[in-house]
Amino acid sequence: MIDLIVVNGTIATNAGTFKADIGIDNGRIVQIGGTPPAARRTLSAAGLLVLPGGVDVHTHLDAPSLDMMTADDFRSGTIAAACGGTTSLIDFCQQTPGGTLADGIANWNGKAEGKAAIDYGYHMLIPDFSDRIAAELETLPEKGITSFKLFMSGKGGAMVDDQALVTAMEMAKRCGAMVMVHAENGDAIDHLQRKYLREGKTAPKYHAESRPARAEAEATARAIALAEMTGAPLYVVHVTCAEALEEVVRGKLRGAQVLAETCTQYLFLTKDSLDQPGFEGAKYVFSPPARTAKDKSALWLALRHNILETVSSDHSSTRFHDQKQGGRDDFTKIPNGLPGIEERFVMLYQGVVEGRITIEQFVDLACSRPARTFGLAPRKGTIAVGSDADIVLFDADAERIIRNRDLHHAVDYSAYEGMKVRGRVVSVLLRGEVIVDNGEFCGEPGYGRFLPRARLEA
Ligand SMILES: [Zn+2]
Repeated sequence: MIDLIVVNGTIATNAGTFKADIGIDNGRIVQIGGTPPAARRTLSAAGLLVLPGGVDVHTHLDAPSLDMMTADDFRSGTIAAACGGTTSLIDFCQQTPGGTLADGIANWNGKAEGKAAIDYGYHMLIPDFSDRIAAELETLPEKGITSFKLFMSGKGGAMVDDQALVTAMEMAKRCGAMVMVHAENGDAIDHLQRKYLREGKTAPKYHAESRPARAEAEATARAIALAEMTGAPLYVVHVTCAEALEEVVRGKLRGAQVLAETCTQYLFLTKDSLDQPGFEGAKYVFSPPARTAKDKSALWLALRHNILETVSSDHSSTRFHDQKQGGRDDFTKIPNGLPGIEERFVMLYQGVVEGRITIEQFVDLACSRPARTFGLAPRKGTIAVGSDADIVLFDADAERIIRNRDLHHAVDYSAYEGMKVRGRVVSVLLRGEVIVDNGEFCGEPGYGRFLPRARLEA
């Protein structure tokens, strides 16, 4: 007698779509198809797609943003993620400037434990790189953290120079980890920001004007070149534009070990969002900024041609009505970031609805490849015997309009407000437990477990 059987659904994996029942025992998938075993409970998936739980590898929960904290902590953020069909995330665990990486991890454990409703791992975000920190990098893989993020922008803050990048890459290569970069040319951006402010150009739209696509493309090309020199793998977070994509493709063709992601917002928004009446544009201040319709098309094509590993949310939520207001007179003082942890899965699914990607590619991008890229496979990101029973029952035909009031995050807007979408997350299982039932969270904060990640193969 096994714990649970999910019956009459259509399973979609990154390798194909088929009808079969799924047997679940002790939190894992023990059978797919064949003679249904006796089970204590039966869950009907009739008329629904049965998908692997989503894997969002780029979130910032309970994280500092300028001099405040993000609106979502691990409780509200992971509940929103679950309701949106995501069962695992990798959050950016931050070093406190001046502190050790070990302190940063202890701090993040304190934020996540007892609150996380879904499983989670960490990337290490390093805003204050030094020789001491470089030496400490080597200790991260044994703690299950195999990726370190450095910033090529943020002059006077988190920005590192090329020497620091090379040092981190050499260390990553040595210890089975990967460097992630925020690729924008920080010197050029700093110059443009000062220039606009001097000219009295303080509105949100100058956020995008001061961060041109070429600044992203240049930094992307430079990071790839440094990765090639060191022989280290590189992951470029949030690629936003055709110019940066070109550099990723050129690097791949030369044999560089460069991987990259984009995020939901770059597939659906343009920089025009920043130029709205009043201060509305502040809702769309995130870095790098949204680009043009042409760039959106290029990103969708990159997904179709399997050039990007995943579409993450980069969920970094600050409230519009108070937190974002600090930048009313100066666009550089608007906290960067937007919510999207709950919307990511269904928004990417619109690519299937619109014929831009196949259902198999959707599963690959939302679930399987991010898990594989970051050492969570085969436990996460797929429906296979032996994998964790992280499963989403998805009504592919349901139509709805995205409304912030229906979402579960702790922030006062959605960047996709009013958009008509097809597809609805009906139920979600995490390790065999139902955590979302009929679209509503019914799990338990604290049920989520830390996911130590495997070392990357050199
Ligand atoms: Zn981010």
